[in-house]
Amino acid sequence: MILLRMSYLCTQILNKSMTFNDLGLRSQVVKAVTDMGFEQPTPIQQEAIPHLLKSKSDFVGLAQTGTGKTAAFGLPLVNRITESRKYPTGLIICPTRELCLQIAKDVQNYSKYEKASTVEAVYGGADIQRQIKNIKRGVSIIVATPGRLVDLIKRKAIQLNEVEVVVLDEADEMLNMGFKEDLDFILSATPEEKSTWLFSATMPKEVARIGKTYMTDPLEVSIGNKNEGNANIDHIYFSVKERDRYAALKRLIDFNPKIFGLVFCRTRRETQQVAEKLGKEGYSAEALHGDLSQAQRDRVMNLFRNRSIQLLVATDVAARGIDVDDITHVINYNLPDEVENYTHRSGRTARAGNTGESLVLINTREKYKINQIEKIIGQKFTAAEIPGPEAICAVQLESMIDKVKATKVNEEEIAPFIPHILADLEGLSKEEVIKKFVSAEFNRFLDYYKKAGDLNAKASDRGGDDRGRDRGRRRDRGRTDENKQRFFVSLGEKDGLNPGGLLRVICDATGLKSDTIGRIDIMPAFSFFDADKADTDKILAQVHGADFEGKSMNIEKTADKSKGGRSRGGSRGGSRSGGDRRSGGRGRSGSRSGSSRRR
Ligand code: AMP
Repeated sequence: MILLRMSYLCTQILNKSMTFNDLGLRSQVVKAVTDMGFEQPTPIQQEAIPHLLKSKSDFVGLAQTGTGKTAAFGLPLVNRITESRKYPTGLIICPTRELCLQIAKDVQNYSKYEKASTVEAVYGGADIQRQIKNIKRGVSIIVATPGRLVDLIKRKAIQLNEVEVVVLDEADEMLNMGFKEDLDFILSATPEEKSTWLFSATMPKEVARIGKTYMTDPLEVSIGNKNEGNANIDHIYFSVKERDRYAALKRLIDFNPKIFGLVFCRTRRETQQVAEKLGKEGYSAEALHGDLSQAQRDRVMNLFRNRSIQLLVATDVAARGIDVDDITHVINYNLPDEVENYTHRSGRTARAGNTGESLVLINTREKYKINQIEKIIGQKFTAAEIPGPEAICAVQLESMIDKVKATKVNEEEIAPFIPHILADLEGLSKEEVIKKFVSAEFNRFLDYYKKAGDLNAKASDRGGDDRGRDRGRRRDRGRTDENKQRFFVSLGEKDGLNPGGLLRVICDATGLKSDTIGRIDIMPAFSFFDADKADTDKILAQVHGADFEGKSMNIEKTADKSKGGRSRGGSRGGSRSGGDRRSGGRGRSGSRSGSSRRR
């Protein structure tokens, strides 16, 4: 195997003067990419295209999403097709419907001046009969998701005997998604002598195995080290107490008024809850997860793509294949269970040579995960502090003033109202008018942050985030309160539950304020908590069955409150710092500067 490895930045500098004309593409293809506004080939294009044009050998391209790999395989593929044939010559397989549509669109654009090159996207969730009809008409390039392609092969609706090139795009993702058997089946339906071009962001063992099984002496081009993250991404983590995770998320968003970002959550339920809460509080956010229908997912993706929303709150699976450029931030509300998935998450920003930030919220016990990820991506994280109220207010004010300055005045439309407005404001100085307008827009925001505290967990909070609180409340131990009901919870310390986490689940599920929850006792395999008796039915109905990190939480009333638990922990109560309690006190009108609703 020939190894041709070089760093992304290094290659960029090395071939700065190279143009698409230098790669050996036919003039029609160069014209098409020039029409698309591409001036210079990206490093992966510079490395891959000349080789794929000249050689019939197999190829492995290791490159992050957003580095231009679609054109790296799409252009040489289109370049090959000079005559119309009845059966496909090129087959591109990719993990998701979104990616499938995007690749098909790109390849169509590259084929703009090539009559012989026709493209059809085949993917699940769409009318298969229509796809069959289009294939029968004769297409030269098929872009497919594995499941639908297997279906078409089994129905004998597609003929792959004449395929000359198979592209496996995002091979690591396809294997992650359990498409290994489908890929085996598809590849066995294609001719032995074809060329296989495999593209992957990471090189886990399973992908290397595909290479070994299906490819002969491939040329391997790696932009960056294997499994390495994109060097244009800043990785930053913030340590917060578990109970402050949501308030911290809001601060990160507020501190970046121009954010166009992806927020990753671990479960569908958490994704939905975070998006809903953000939406209710005036943020421009929508959820994307597997419980949504295809039509709902399409709607949300379209809103995000055309920037009608600023934030997409998504699960790892639902966000696969998201190919939106200019994403400024990826926020990891929680780290993924499989730390390897972090590369895919963060790779959604800093596409096409842009820079981006990947922000991670961790609780005090998750620092070791940061170390694991650093090893995988070969990059260091910066530890940063969640911005305080003053800094956020300053940024928001500045953003609002910028917006005001950039606002175009429609002189004609506004003219009839001006005399009346001026008469109303008579007697106020210019400074007073400015102050009043700014306050009208900004007071709600200032009020929200007025009493907001510091959300950063200190080193001394380590492991004591919740334990410390427990200790402080031991004096409450054994105290009974006839207005409280004690509940049994089926999850405990072994399941990763801590008082902050339990509190979050209860409050998220019920909408109850955290200070209505009393003593919390986390035992190794189960837990207890006290809550106001009046809320008993609500808690049983809404917390029972709630999801905690993929596990269902069962709740029961304990028969006698005094028997519940060993009272190892203390009661909750007292004041909490952080924003949750204040939620709802801000931005409902959607008047927040920079992140108001645009739906
Ligand atoms: P990809 O990695 O193929 O998803 O490409 C990421 C983004 O970069 C897409 O929006 C492409 O249209 C864009 N792109 C790809 N190649 C180039 C190029 N040579 N010059 C400018 N933009 C490009």
